[in-house]
Amino acid sequence: MRIHRRDLIHGAGLLGFGLSLPRSQKAAAEPIEASYPPTRTQLRGSHPGSFEAAHAYTRDQLPPPKPRRLPEIFDLVVVGAGISGLAAAYYYQRQFGPDKKILILDNHDDFGGHAKRNEFHQGGRMHLGIGGTHNLEYWQFNPVVTDLMNDLGVDIKTLRAQSTFDYGRTGKSPYALWFDAETFGRDQLITGCSLKGPPSTSPLLFLDQFPISDTAKAQLKRFYTLQQDLLADLAPEARTHYLRTTGYFDFLRDLGGLGAEARQLFSKSCHGSWGLEAHCLSVAEALGDGLPGLNLIGETPSESGWDYPAAFFPDGNASIARLLVSRLIPAVAKDVTATSIATQAFDYGALDQAAQSVRIRLSSTVVRVNQSGGLVGVRYLKGGQAFEAKARHTVMACYHSILPYICPDLPAEQKAAQAYQVKYPLVLTNVLIRSKKPFDQLGIHGVSCPGRMHASLFLMNGINTGGYEHALNDPGAAVVAFWGSLSPPASALDLRAQLRASREQMLALPFEAYESEVRLVLGGLLGDAGFNVDRDILAITVNRWPHGYAHEYLDLWDEDFAPGQAPHELARARFGNLTFANSDAGASAYTHTAIEEAFRAVNELRDLRS
Ligand SMILES: Cc1cc2nc3c(=O)[nH]c(=O)nc-3n(C[C@H](O)[C@H](O)[C@H](O)COP(=O)(O)OP(=O)(O)OC[C@H]3O[C@@H](n4cnc5c(N)ncnc54)[C@H](O)[C@@H]3O)c2cc1C
Repeated sequence: MRIHRRDLIHGAGLLGFGLSLPRSQKAAAEPIEASYPPTRTQLRGSHPGSFEAAHAYTRDQLPPPKPRRLPEIFDLVVVGAGISGLAAAYYYQRQFGPDKKILILDNHDDFGGHAKRNEFHQGGRMHLGIGGTHNLEYWQFNPVVTDLMNDLGVDIKTLRAQSTFDYGRTGKSPYALWFDAETFGRDQLITGCSLKGPPSTSPLLFLDQFPISDTAKAQLKRFYTLQQDLLADLAPEARTHYLRTTGYFDFLRDLGGLGAEARQLFSKSCHGSWGLEAHCLSVAEALGDGLPGLNLIGETPSESGWDYPAAFFPDGNASIARLLVSRLIPAVAKDVTATSIATQAFDYGALDQAAQSVRIRLSSTVVRVNQSGGLVGVRYLKGGQAFEAKARHTVMACYHSILPYICPDLPAEQKAAQAYQVKYPLVLTNVLIRSKKPFDQLGIHGVSCPGRMHASLFLMNGINTGGYEHALNDPGAAVVAFWGSLSPPASALDLRAQLRASREQMLALPFEAYESEVRLVLGGLLGDAGFNVDRDILAITVNRWPHGYAHEYLDLWDEDFAPGQAPHELARARFGNLTFANSDAGASAYTHTAIEEAFRAVNELRDLRS
């Protein structure tokens, strides 16, 4: 979910491995087919087994084992079966012909990259959760992306008409905050207000209920009440300079008069939209993301602009990945259409069959890519064994920070540009609960949790697209999405140190840590409404994305690069028969960017031919 950078400030002139199930899960989960990847629970996303080979043979630079050479020569090898890699295979078939031999390699046990689905089966029904990328920001689609969507039969108008989901802002009290006893001394749900939302949800009238000190309350009251342009003395350029070069927390302290306790309340507010602590953002970025403070620079926050008219499938953009896979390999599922894709079962056994022109080989980590004699050699590890595939062309659709390790022959400047692109880590934990009635009783469908590991949670009902139906008012079992990132320790000062610390923490935490977090939050939030964690939590799937959002340039941490000189532009330059896709190549963490970059990467191979 990328809900940020709304045009709110126009006037400002800028714009372990989890072996134990939760008790309830052991008791209540229905038998599932463990060999079907979308139904696997506990640690998913970067699941155990998916990243260790990459870390050992790339980051830690162990020499990879001697590979066994595959007998055939492929026309194209794609590294990474995310949206970008799948789209690259699609465009390659279009450019070069449907009979071309294509091999797609990915380190996970499921295809889609961030576009993954979580399936839960309960009471004879399938309940879907989004494992990574959520929504289609169709208003940003260029003609290339629109054409692809049309070809896949994705009709945005229909998706919009069939969805009432709005990230939990659908209950009687669409905005709510939950303070937890461990952090704030007492559990407290406050409905009707938010720390980041339209002005009508301002916490001003609710501050007396906040479990914080009287000093922090007084500071916040003054902060929310003041209506003054505190930058009035600055000329327009100096004003823009201030907004882009000052940290949001410095602004809260110096202009907003907020002490550390009050400032801390906002620190996780941008976890979902940016995957970062709010103190990493400039004033301009934070205000653009909807954090408070416009009243201090003479702006009036707008009530509009908070509707985010995105289009959804119930498994998010996993449906786009599945539509692409069924186009590339028709044998995976019969009669697939965009109006039935969410309910369609896929035959994973069909993904890697020699008789097909396209093959997707999962659990395969690429560790070395070299070129010689007009061919690219792609070495990968699968099941502890090393192989080498030879290809005429290769599209690297994996994230860019791994490329310098895998492609040692690239020019030093290109490798430095690739290493620059450290992604923002994210975690999305889906929890199947027995009934959503406790939420209804409290009048909420979602809350923000300023003190907890996941900054927010919301019910996933109301997306009736792709053939799937789960009405918003269905009182039965439901998926609750816990969403955010992991705050790095305060000792990590520089942005990249923070991102790496958050990533390491995410991978080091065992399943039980995520599980007890979910139990604590649901018990504390819903306990008074009759929710019993032992009885009512049926399954937990933790989607860890240590390499999450593509690195987008930030005011405080990145230069204003000259056109053509930005790291992502240097990083994606064609190198012999090797081209580079992935959303990193566009420095923009969107599904449509992943598609655009695939299109460019394949066109560069076409240009090579002519
Ligand atoms: C939690 C989350 C929510 C998001 N929400 C949205 C949203 O709502 N809307 C939106 O537009 N975008 C969203 N995004 C952004 C998302 O990154 C893009 O939409 C898109 O899915 C990126 O696709 P990609 O193919 O570029 O990269 P990826 O999905 O990362 O695919 C790259 C694949 O390459 C694999 N790989 C890496 N190295 C190797 C190797 N050495 N060998 C083999 N395989 C390798 C990776 O593991 C991965 O499977 C979200 C991202 C996350 C993580």
